[in-house]
Amino acid sequence: MSKNEEAPPLDFIRQIVANDLATGKHGGKVVTRFPPEPNGFLHIGHAKSICLNFGVARENAGGQCNLRFDDTNPLKEEDLYIQSIRTDVKWLGFDWQEHMYYASDYFEPLYQFGERLIQDGHAFICELNVEQMREYRGTLTEPGRESPWRNRSSQESLGLFRRMRAGEFPEGRYTLRAKIDMASPNINMRDPVIYRILHAHHHQTGDQWCIYPTYDYAHCISDALEGITHSLCTLEFEDHRPLYDWILDRLEGVVGCHPQQIEFSRLVMEYTVVSKRKLNALVRSGVVDGWDDPRMPTISGLRRRGYTPAAIREFCRRIGISKTPNNVELSLLESCIRDDLEQHAPRAMAVLDPLKVVITTVDPDHCQALTAANHPQNPEMGSRSLYWMREIFIEREDFAENPPKQFKRLVPGGEVRLRHAYVIRCDEVIKDPASGAVLELRCSHDPNTLHANPTDRKVKGVIHWLPVQRSRQAEIRCYETLFNTPNPDEAWQGEDFMRLINPNSLQILSHCRIEEGLQNSPAGTIFQFERQGYFCLDSKHATAERPVFNRTVGLRDSWGKQQNKGD
Ligand code: ATP
Ligand code: MG
Repeated sequence: MSKNEEAPPLDFIRQIVANDLATGKHGGKVVTRFPPEPNGFLHIGHAKSICLNFGVARENAGGQCNLRFDDTNPLKEEDLYIQSIRTDVKWLGFDWQEHMYYASDYFEPLYQFGERLIQDGHAFICELNVEQMREYRGTLTEPGRESPWRNRSSQESLGLFRRMRAGEFPEGRYTLRAKIDMASPNINMRDPVIYRILHAHHHQTGDQWCIYPTYDYAHCISDALEGITHSLCTLEFEDHRPLYDWILDRLEGVVGCHPQQIEFSRLVMEYTVVSKRKLNALVRSGVVDGWDDPRMPTISGLRRRGYTPAAIREFCRRIGISKTPNNVELSLLESCIRDDLEQHAPRAMAVLDPLKVVITTVDPDHCQALTAANHPQNPEMGSRSLYWMREIFIEREDFAENPPKQFKRLVPGGEVRLRHAYVIRCDEVIKDPASGAVLELRCSHDPNTLHANPTDRKVKGVIHWLPVQRSRQAEIRCYETLFNTPNPDEAWQGEDFMRLINPNSLQILSHCRIEEGLQNSPAGTIFQFERQGYFCLDSKHATAERPVFNRTVGLRDSWGKQQNKGD
């Protein structure tokens, strides 16, 4: 992480932490955790939580942040997701050191605490099935009803709990429920289930268990066992906090400490969804090229698209932490990556839609190396050679036979500057006799204009170009938003989400030209293709024979004004 990265503002969570450290609450320590459920790849919303949890730990001397996999639902979890989460957290620039844990590490103590809750009269074995339980639960306006099994003896519950663990019963036959308050206005407190029977293989514990704790039960105890001081989570857990505290209060003196749960608003972004369930549905439907499709808001998708860890961290810094809804415009994310790449991406040239130009004033065997700086403001980034030859490509849209007003590029009889090279004049337009399509231009160059504008006349436009022979063919993939509506999360309905997909979200340009040599760059290298935007060499489909670039983001459109300074 670079030194000049700005410190995050003192949001309400950082203020609480600072106060707690000052007063010595929690023993003057700060221990946080990032607790993903390994049921999908991480997305930009998780980045917010990662930057907060690891950030708070890093900013305070002696701080620690654990990576904990909340793996209480073996049916939805996979090792593949665990590996991807580790990769993504590291890539974002954070380090859990030796503190990587699994909630499943605590299955034995969690079970023991379950026995204890039963013995203390705080939990019971229930025989209601799912449907009955729903019926008994009540609604937001009506209290629930107590289970007929609620007052069975602790001895009986304990015996059944042990037999549940021993695998004597089928799924759904029994549950362990906390004995709290069926009349509570908070539905989470109406005797929630804390253990269920699940004859499922678990990615970490194998076939050792056939009963699994619920998230609410496992989470608070895992936090306490790890000595977490501040358990930071998103606002939808606010209504779960009384349960979090209730469980830990019942186990006081046994679990060691009582972390403080603090909620902040979750990140929601325009034109995308941030829910692993929905992202999983996109992957399964095949509309995207996996979790790391460059249109996905996943960390791996953003990486493949060309986003840098610094840009994502900067985005998280700019959105901040609060309790107010955090609905963010896509342009904020884009401006973070532009600001980073503007400084750090080497410049290169690419022609997306090539039009051949023959420079009649250049000999057929002429090949002159011209020097082009890799970055206009940063000489340390060095320079490279571009080869001035008789046949070149320019962008088809940089030529217009019947130019609109204000068109500053090449027109019949007009002049334009070629970036890093000469001024050329268009002398002849060669067309397909049948269709009238422009096939080729014949131009002449002014040899006195290398890196300098002529003094006797004004040449306004500057365009990019590439030599035909010393350039390479490449595929360039341009992306738009995956969804055609700014709030797909709201409009999303089950399998029907396909109607929300933007049919133009991927445009493949397969006959582009790039500067010679770029195809040999390491996968993931990002260039600014001058006048076009930022492009990242794809890490999945690119080969040296068939380079593929992903457009990360376009340029600000002020380019033309900035660049026409004689080169
Ligand atoms: P999803 O709906 O994508 O599955 P989740 O909250 O169930 O999200 P978890 O794996 O449980 O996913 O999340 C790990 C941590 O990341 C949690 O602390 C959660 O609050 C946080 N988190 C998840 N999504 C967001 C978001 N959009 N904004 C901020 N934090 C988030
Ligand atoms: Mg979750």
